[in-house]
Amino acid sequence: MSEHTDHAVVVGASMGGLVAARALSEAYAHVTVVERDPLPDVGLPGGATARRGVPQGRHAHGLLARGREALEELFPGLTDELIGYGVPPTDLQSGFRWINGGRLLCQAPSGLTALGVSRPLLESALRARVRALPNVTVADSCDAAGLTASGDGRRVTGLRVLRRGDSRTEEIVAADLVVDATGRGSRGPQWLAALGYPAPATERVEVGLTYASRSYRRAEDAPQGVAIAGTLANPRGGVAIPQEGDRWIVSIGGMLGDAAPLDHDGYTAFASTLPSPAIHELIRDAEPLSDPLRFRYLASTRRRYERLHRFPEGYLVFGDAISSFNPVYGQGMTVAALEALLLRECLREGTGGLAGRFLGSAARIVDIPWDISVGADLRFPGVAGRRTAKVRTVNAYLERLHRAAEHDPVVGRAFLRVVNLLDRPERLMAPGIAWRVLAARPSTAPTAAVAPVRVVVGAGAAAD
Ligand SMILES: Cc1cc2nc3c(=O)[nH]c(=O)nc-3n(C[C@H](O)[C@H](O)[C@H](O)COP(=O)(O)OP(=O)(O)OC[C@H]3O[C@@H](n4cnc5c(N)ncnc54)[C@H](O)[C@@H]3O)c2cc1C
Repeated sequence: MSEHTDHAVVVGASMGGLVAARALSEAYAHVTVVERDPLPDVGLPGGATARRGVPQGRHAHGLLARGREALEELFPGLTDELIGYGVPPTDLQSGFRWINGGRLLCQAPSGLTALGVSRPLLESALRARVRALPNVTVADSCDAAGLTASGDGRRVTGLRVLRRGDSRTEEIVAADLVVDATGRGSRGPQWLAALGYPAPATERVEVGLTYASRSYRRAEDAPQGVAIAGTLANPRGGVAIPQEGDRWIVSIGGMLGDAAPLDHDGYTAFASTLPSPAIHELIRDAEPLSDPLRFRYLASTRRRYERLHRFPEGYLVFGDAISSFNPVYGQGMTVAALEALLLRECLREGTGGLAGRFLGSAARIVDIPWDISVGADLRFPGVAGRRTAKVRTVNAYLERLHRAAEHDPVVGRAFLRVVNLLDRPERLMAPGIAWRVLAARPSTAPTAAVAPVRVVVGAGAAAD
């Protein structure tokens, strides 16, 4: 029998680890968050910067409406706090230009709030909130090296930790629960194998996405945001999100090896080849505040821990370590926040059988965003995967929906509510929406389109 410690350890102090720690703080006497990176105490908002362990932090991060709500449930007052730091709130529909299938979604007030918060500021604000919890300790510059377990291997009893520095001595941190929130590079499968457990089945959908991102100064009267989805004829896309500090963060890119150049002229010219000129118009005369930099994202990945027949008690996997989604759909942070709400609910029912209850229900949280993102990626012939009848029917229907949403704000709002994970996808097939979609004017040329470009597919996509 392991000794009862009333201590939970979270590995990783990024978005996933921080929201997990918040949920755990209600159920355990003490929570320790172990993070590999040094995490300086920053003055908000100016001191928030990207860090090594979260390289995606330098790229555009949209927070879905459901994610903002979930974070607000976990950290009451967060929205107002961020707005106080200069984060611009925007109506998701009237303030943002969504271009899907080359068509501008009808702009109208939706009552849904988008927050243009940079990823480093959001993480720093959450970290400050978590550090302020009296029973949570954040231990930075500490590398997690594996799990410890009871003699029969059935229960995880703690974490092996290497403190960064000269000695790099190993310590064992005893815990009743270890939560792996180390992101898409998680070594959870290897940690389990070392205890004699099988590896989870892993689903991968190769997208070979390359983001190229750059900040620009944003004029006060500038439009509020742009998101351009790739089309079949032109899979390039991009996003421009207004942020604190009167900045735009612009991420543009292509898939299956296609990438924007990183020199000024090449970057600007690439923006002019997206399925809409909206981002090019916004940046061509804007003052750049940084050089463009790249992020290569090879594949969406889902680890099916919930299907394992044997899994130790006292161990959970969380956030991107379970599922990492093609980032163009902006889902990862929202899924982590929803998993934190789930963890809180599970813990309210006690800790018995926690792994089975949590991982089973987390899989149901992942199902919808996974189907949305993978289903949309399978539109592109170069993306390998099984195109079920459902995937083909939904994609054909969405083409018609984007046509209707160009003129019909109700359809546009219904679409935004689904992709923001506020409503289930079936809502788009409900009679009140379906008849509007099917009654929409037959094919007219997309309003926002520019000529399709020839995209070289398969040239040099690399793993992140
Ligand atoms: C290019 C890109 C753009 C994205 N855009 C969006 C977006 O628009 N909207 C959105 O919601 N999501 C987006 N995401 C996803 C989002 O970044 C993640 O879902 C989110 O960060 C939650 O991930 P996580 O905390 O589970 O893992 P991560 O953010 O990867 O964090 C893992 C943490 O664990 C630490 N760590 C790793 N190994 C160890 C170890 N052995 N010991 C100790 N610490 C360790 C790391 O240093 C890091 O702090 C994007 C992702 C990418 C790649």
